[in-house]
Amino acid sequence: MNRLALALFALLTCAAPAHAWNARGHMMVATIAWDRLSPDARAKASALIKLNPHYAQWTEGAADADRDLVAFIKASVWADDIRSEAGYSNGPEDTSPPAIGYADRSRHSEWHYKNLAFSPDGTPIKASPESNALSQIHRMTAQLRNPNVSAEARSYDLVWLLHLVGDVHQPLHATSRYTAEIPDGDRGGNEVSVCPTSCKDRSRSLHSFWDGLMGSGSDLRDAINRSRRLAAPASGVAGVTSPDAWLQESLELAKTAAYASPIGPGAGPYVLTAAYKQRAGDVAEERIALAGVRLAALIEQGLAE
Ligand SMILES: [Zn+2]
Repeated sequence: MNRLALALFALLTCAAPAHAWNARGHMMVATIAWDRLSPDARAKASALIKLNPHYAQWTEGAADADRDLVAFIKASVWADDIRSEAGYSNGPEDTSPPAIGYADRSRHSEWHYKNLAFSPDGTPIKASPESNALSQIHRMTAQLRNPNVSAEARSYDLVWLLHLVGDVHQPLHATSRYTAEIPDGDRGGNEVSVCPTSCKDRSRSLHSFWDGLMGSGSDLRDAINRSRRLAAPASGVAGVTSPDAWLQESLELAKTAAYASPIGPGAGPYVLTAAYKQRAGDVAEERIALAGVRLAALIEQGLAE
């Protein structure tokens, strides 16, 4: 790679959005899914998750009765954990690799989102990378069902799916907004600054504000307790099984909630109002609950044979 290519590559790789829901949010999605899985699906999922190289670490100190649940929940954050783990690299990104399992040491930053780009003012938009959250959910779901694929590759797929179904329910993981003020796109709100209370305090990106709506920290008990207090989604919408539709919903919510007033067309910083934060919190809770129920259905079907 020559110097220019290297510089471009560095630019592209750091252009990926941050983590999507913090660990807390992903763990809540996984808990909701686990609570709905049949004993058969739990057993099959647990057998696959045991093949992940982090399994021993995840389950260290867990009581026998809790081990499968603990591993299932922690597995949902693995795709983010490898972003800071030695031995994994940032690419180069590929378009549609065959899933080879844990021998694949790429962090695959571009798998965490799918930009259904839009512009409210006619600024030209750019397409999402070809390999993205949606393409991977389709590919991995198909592979999970395929008995000819190795258990290790299916484990890898399952662990990614535990994470990606959560990611695509975060509205700002479904889009990038192009405006005259931000003509290269805001990378899902990463280029927009907000001040959750006052701009005398430190500002943060709009994207990170949304990632953090379920709170932070990776305490398992907190995540389990909070997820079990969430209202169950209405069965009609919970029964939507198309990942394409999940992303369209996220795009609409990005437009109507994430980019709602007081967010303007520029980079901010914008001071968030109580009404904005209330709506954002409500949307986040609904999306987490939906992601959990839909993830359960996807796994149940994927492991049915
Ligand atoms: Zn993610």
